[in-house]
Amino acid sequence: MMQPLDIAVIGCGPAGLAAALLLARQGHDVHIFDQFLAPGPVGSGLMIQPSGLAVLDALGLAGEILRRAARIDALEGIEERGRCVLDAPYAALGLPGAFGIGIHRASLFGVLLEAASAQAGITLHADHAVTGSLCEPAGRRLIFAGREASSRFDLVVDASGWRTHFDPAPKGILPFGALWASLPLEPGDPFAGNLLEQRYRRASQMAGVLPIGQRAGAAGPEVAFFWSLKAEDYPVWAETPLDDWKAEVLRLWPALEGLLARIGDRSQLTFARYAHRTHPAPVIERMIAIGDAWHSASPQLGQGANMALLDAWSLARGLAEGRTLGEKLRLATSWRRDHVWLYQIVTRAFTPLYQSESRMLPSLRDRLLAPLSRHWPARGIQAQLMSGLFGFPLGPLGLALPDYEALSASLTSAAASGESHS
Ligand SMILES: Cc1cc2nc3c(=O)[nH]c(=O)nc-3n(C[C@H](O)[C@H](O)[C@H](O)COP(=O)(O)OP(=O)(O)OC[C@H]3O[C@@H](n4cnc5c(N)ncnc54)[C@H](O)[C@@H]3O)c2cc1C
Repeated sequence: MMQPLDIAVIGCGPAGLAAALLLARQGHDVHIFDQFLAPGPVGSGLMIQPSGLAVLDALGLAGEILRRAARIDALEGIEERGRCVLDAPYAALGLPGAFGIGIHRASLFGVLLEAASAQAGITLHADHAVTGSLCEPAGRRLIFAGREASSRFDLVVDASGWRTHFDPAPKGILPFGALWASLPLEPGDPFAGNLLEQRYRRASQMAGVLPIGQRAGAAGPEVAFFWSLKAEDYPVWAETPLDDWKAEVLRLWPALEGLLARIGDRSQLTFARYAHRTHPAPVIERMIAIGDAWHSASPQLGQGANMALLDAWSLARGLAEGRTLGEKLRLATSWRRDHVWLYQIVTRAFTPLYQSESRMLPSLRDRLLAPLSRHWPARGIQAQLMSGLFGFPLGPLGLALPDYEALSASLTSAAASGESHS
């Protein structure tokens, strides 16, 4: 029997919610603290890869997630002259039936929050912005903005994202960010419902459309639209008439006309920035960093939320297997360290091929990497990278691949019943 611990989780994102759920299921008493006034995610859509789906499946939540998501079979990227320079189907994994999913952030959050709310042993504290912590021999306290410090916890899990207060190093904010919007998908829209589609002008401009399923309460399915933008150019964009900006988007991707017509107001677009950083010390006394608080990167490879879910799973497994708290936390990071390291390097290397001012790198991407990626073994490696399975992260965590046969059946039955989450 594992001794139940008092655990504080900072942050209610995918990492914090999944960790809270897993730890409460092990019998621990879990308190989640988030700075938000009322629970809610910020942002548009994201991709859940086979790696993250494996965790959601093991949590028993994959079926519910799929009912709100869109099945994605491939990533397709086309450069401005119309040449396909990225064709990455999940079928190249060689795993029968494998796919990724596009989902609205609110749907992922909603499913995890519902499960956490129904789970005994979890208390959620909104409006608690953590500014620091204090380690005493008998436990670690959290310090909040404008509130008294918390009682002592046996363990604090930092899942507060890349802006974490617990890594004082520079945040490594990347020059490129992106404008994001969730827009209704309408009959006759010229998008394949099962592709993440991207268009590139060299590497300095990228537009994308990702189907993200149907949110609870939404009238129908949506897509996430994104447009890359340098942070230093954002003030100019904010002053540019919306129609001028739309004309610029249409020069790259004319088929977006109908979709852009659904943007009537600048406030429908959120500008997101990304940071590339890795916490040098994810474990200190009575504290562990998981998810973006440990490692964050540009979403070019679509891995952050998936890595966060894997970290949460690893933490729960470490707590179950280690003998002392120190050993439990060391185990939790040791099972994840190589995979994190690998993806931090690969994302760092690949991002400038799609997001930079370089003329040479996109030319290398289009003339060398694209033709190469159509052949063995590059095609399989590309699919492994995209799916989050490169470096075999599931084995050390005792996780199995998602049960795609059962999951496809739940997708089909949801589609057949025309289920809407209103
Ligand atoms: C535009 C965009 C697109 C992306 N696309 C993808 C994708 O396709 N696939 C993918 O896997 N990943 C994607 N990502 C990355 C992914 O969103 C993150 O990696 C993931 O959300 C990390 O989860 P997390 O739980 O670690 O942190 P977060 O989701 O950042 O959650 C952190 C939580 O902590 C709370 N918090 C922060 N500071 C404090 C504090 N001081 N006190 C209390 N609470 C605090 C926040 O309110 C928040 O609820 C994308 C990111 C962006 C910005």
